[in-house]
Amino acid sequence: MSALRRPVGPVFWDSCETWSRDELAAHQAASLTRQLARVGRDSAFYRRRFAELGLDPRDLRAPEDLARLPFTRKADYSRSIAESPPWGDFLCIPRERLARIHFSSGTTATPVPQFWSQADLERWADLYARYAYAQGVRPGDLFQCLFTYTWFVGGLGATAGYQRLGATVIPAGSQETERQIRTLFEFGTTVLCGTPSFMVHLGETARGMGFDPAASKVHSITVGGEPGGGISATRRRIEELWGARCYDAYGSLEFQTIGFDCPDQSGPHVAEDFVYAEVVDPDSGEPVPDGTPGVLVLTHLDKEAGPLVRWWTGDVVCRDSAPCACGRRHARLLGGVRGRADDMLVVRGINLFPSAVEQVVREQPGLGGEYRIVVDGSVRNADTGLLNAIRLQVEAEPGSDPARLVAVLEDALKERLRVRARVEVLPLGSLPRETHKARRLVVEP
Ligand SMILES: [Zn+2]
Repeated sequence: MSALRRPVGPVFWDSCETWSRDELAAHQAASLTRQLARVGRDSAFYRRRFAELGLDPRDLRAPEDLARLPFTRKADYSRSIAESPPWGDFLCIPRERLARIHFSSGTTATPVPQFWSQADLERWADLYARYAYAQGVRPGDLFQCLFTYTWFVGGLGATAGYQRLGATVIPAGSQETERQIRTLFEFGTTVLCGTPSFMVHLGETARGMGFDPAASKVHSITVGGEPGGGISATRRRIEELWGARCYDAYGSLEFQTIGFDCPDQSGPHVAEDFVYAEVVDPDSGEPVPDGTPGVLVLTHLDKEAGPLVRWWTGDVVCRDSAPCACGRRHARLLGGVRGRADDMLVVRGINLFPSAVEQVVREQPGLGGEYRIVVDGSVRNADTGLLNAIRLQVEAEPGSDPARLVAVLEDALKERLRVRARVEVLPLGSLPRETHKARRLVVEP
């Protein structure tokens, strides 16, 4: 696979991590000019879009000019695939030059493909190596990859990156929990990657088997694929369980990969040499200042195969471009991804992301790791369909008092989030466990 590369020093993998904001802006402007000219020429979708707008891509010279282009949304992409199956018309290189195709999960819609050239895969591996290096991983570390390899980008992406850095990789996947634990203890695994749900499940199962996860050799855990890594209470739970640092990795199928936690752990740094990031108001589409939540919109700066321009991620973030204590100058997404704009619930006029509920649940002692938010007819106004409350299902650890947990949680949710909840406390192990991506928001008509 990928060739080994050497870091630029003991702290940073790539010199671009500490560029000044001016150096970064110059890099972005030059890359965008090149990329838009190429996309406008080679991608049938964007060629058509530029023509409809009467724009010559060569006229777009500064990042601010991007605002003259509409957002590219998932619906645009799906339509392109449906109208020109199976490849769609976003591709910028001949089909024969594609090195990799990954697909969307297909849980909510028909799976659609995304494309990488060989150079794109090298870039991706190098970004992953950059993240791992920032998180204290070094050549010789033993890395057990618990992201799944099937129909998901995480497994192969992490594998290539950690190999490039010089770590030893065990491509374990997300199945066979007990075998994972035996392997981890027998071989002395030092680094883990997986979904936050699986990291909690793995630790709890290890304890049940008589192993102490905190006594393992694991020192660094990278989580992704779910919002949990950005929720400080969830991260703390994983850190306490494993006696290791837990870092958030932020990516998506379309932009693999976007950002990573540094040792400061205040929110992922966006790889701004790789993507141009805008944060916009979800309704008006206008840019919002740093510190104000908005939807993240991304443009590939150098992707070859299927680059995207002004991609509407749907993820709500809060950007901070101030220097970080770690020395990196790439902007951070404070507190990680707050939630999907689509998953936001409105309860009696209050905007509520499931991640905010998770924060409250995880901080409460006496509860197991799982929870579920249920939205159904029992919490909707029968006439308007609007939500009056949420149902929250949690699990009690043996020995805790269910009635007290109900009262404490209902109070905490009202106090902290101004939301009324009907809390149901179930015995430990009642809710489903997922080793890949957990589905904790259940919306019923
Ligand atoms: Zn930092």
